[in-house]
Amino acid sequence: MDALCKPILRLDGVSKRFGGVVAADSTTFSVFPGRVHGLIGPNGAGKSTLMNLISGIYTPDSGTIYFDERDIGKVPSHDRARMGIGRTFQTPRFLQRSNIRDNLLLGADLGSGYGYAASYFGKKVTGFEAYLERLLAIAGFSFAWEDDISSLPYGQRKLLEIVRSLLSNPRVMLVDEPAAGLNNREIENAMALLDFAAKEKNIGILLIEHSMDMIMNICKDIVVINFGKVIAAGNPAEIQSNEDVIVAYLGRNLDA
Ligand code: ADP
Ligand code: MG
Repeated sequence: MDALCKPILRLDGVSKRFGGVVAADSTTFSVFPGRVHGLIGPNGAGKSTLMNLISGIYTPDSGTIYFDERDIGKVPSHDRARMGIGRTFQTPRFLQRSNIRDNLLLGADLGSGYGYAASYFGKKVTGFEAYLERLLAIAGFSFAWEDDISSLPYGQRKLLEIVRSLLSNPRVMLVDEPAAGLNNREIENAMALLDFAAKEKNIGILLIEHSMDMIMNICKDIVVINFGKVIAAGNPAEIQSNEDVIVAYLGRNLDA
C-alpha cells in the first residue's frame, strides 16, 4: 500500500452495546481510498452495526470515527451522507409505489454537483444521464424512467441501490451484503460496479458479504469480527489461513 495514502475512514476503539449485547467492542480499522475492504464474520457479529455507527444511525458508546481525518461524532446522519459517506442496505430501501426516476433522484440528491433537483424540474442536465448510463452498462440492465420501482426484479433493485449511491459521488461506500439474493450474473455485475467505484472513482469501500468468492476476489484487505470484536485483519491469503477465523467463521462455511 502507498505509505503516503491516508485513510478516508478510520475507526478508533469504537464500542456499542445493546442491553447485554456487545455489538462493537473497541473496534479499530481504516478504509483507504480506491480499495475494497471486506468486513466478514458470523451472523450477529456486529457487521451491520458498524455500518450504522459509521453512517450515524447509531451513536457509539465510546471511541471515535474519523472521516477524512475529521472526528464526525457530532455530525448528523444526513450530513454524513452529504459529506461523502454513501451506503446500501442489506435489504434495498426504495420508495414503494414510486417510479425509478423519483427513487434515483431522492437517493442521489446529495451534493454531487449534477443538480438533480434542477433536472427533475425540467432544466438541462449535464453529466447525470451520461454517468447513469455508464453505470447501468456496468450493472448490466436498463429501464424506463417512469417504470415503477417494483417492476424491477429484486437483484436489479439491489444493483440499482449501488448505482444510486454512486450517483451521489461518495468518497466512502458502505455496502451491506450486495450478493444476497442475486444470481451469478448479477453478482458479477455487482463486483464490476464495486471495482469501478474503487479503481475509477477512488472510493474507499467497506463491503459486508457472506460470499467468500466475492470477498476473496475483490478485497485487498479483510477485517473479521466475532461478538463485536476484531479477531483478524489482513489480506485474503492471511485471512484464509488464520486459525481463529477458520474456527469462528470460515470453517462453518466449508460445506455450505
Ligand atoms: P451482523 O450484521 O453481523 O449480522 P448486527 O450488527 O446486525 O450483526 O447485530 C449485532 C448484534 O447487535 C446482534 O446481537 C443484534 O441482535 C444486536 N443489535 C443490532 N442492532 C440492534 C438494535 N437496534 N437493538 C438491539 N440489538 C441490536
Ligand atoms: Mg447484517
